[in-house]
Amino acid sequence: MLARKDIPVDIAVYEVAGMRRVGANLYSYSEVPSFLKNNKFIESGYRVSLSSGQCVQSLFYWSNESVNIWTHVIGFVMFLVLAVYDNLFLLPSYQATIWDHVVYTLCLTCFQFCMVCSAGYHLFCAQNEEVCKSWLALDLAGICIGLLGCYFPGIYYAYFCFDHWRRIYLFIVCVLILITLVIQTHQRFLSARWATRRLILFCALVAYGVVPVFHWVYLNGGMQTHIVQTFFPRVVFVYFLGVLALMFYATKCPERCLPGKVDYVGSSHQWWHILVVIAFLWWHQCGVAMMNYRHSNKCTSLERTSDLWAATS
Ligand SMILES: [Zn+2]
Repeated sequence: MLARKDIPVDIAVYEVAGMRRVGANLYSYSEVPSFLKNNKFIESGYRVSLSSGQCVQSLFYWSNESVNIWTHVIGFVMFLVLAVYDNLFLLPSYQATIWDHVVYTLCLTCFQFCMVCSAGYHLFCAQNEEVCKSWLALDLAGICIGLLGCYFPGIYYAYFCFDHWRRIYLFIVCVLILITLVIQTHQRFLSARWATRRLILFCALVAYGVVPVFHWVYLNGGMQTHIVQTFFPRVVFVYFLGVLALMFYATKCPERCLPGKVDYVGSSHQWWHILVVIAFLWWHQCGVAMMNYRHSNKCTSLERTSDLWAATS
């Protein structure tokens, strides 16, 4: 491995077909410092010891982080545009209340935060170990906040007619996210040895969602009811996307089977990023459908009775 002081940091300027292009020295896995060694199956394309300005310049040439960065830069722009569009056009067309605006704005702000932290981590991790760890902490906090953004509209609209349960589940989710963020401040949380524990923690946070989902099915009278048959498959699909994303993340496939062949395009982390964006977009659309349903269907007597039972028991 090259010693830190021996690693050249200059951005190379070279000519391709008569045009000046800016490129950089890229390194192989065996040459990079240990804090960048997260995946031994990605063999080339590493940026090392760049300044923050050089990291920003690296947006415009290929490295093994390019797709990771751009997928979430584009994701951030999409959710920003959606937040503006929803508040100015979509929600008014559904005669939305102030709380609909609050829920959508919170949800999309959480998604944007998740995208920014992730893109920032992949962009600036090439500076040095300290900067890399700070951004990694933000990236992991961003995943928590992104999940919070999913829970907000899910619980708000699913428990629209069960106000008592809605308050309970929103409270529990906020507490769970807070506990997860506190655990993340543990000094060993970012270490490679805790990678599995980090994964288990995030899986648990996602898996918890099964509790309010099945309780919602029960409160609505079971699988045969119209509302459950309409929305349950959508929830199953978002979990399918989440599980698929986690499978890529955890198994490091396809690069495990094709080491060095998908360094720049097609690696597991890139699939994880793309699937997260698709899952957020899908969940946003589900929220719109759920809001439309709740605005055009009054709470049934069964729903009112169930909530009254909860409130008085
Ligand atoms: Zn990432």
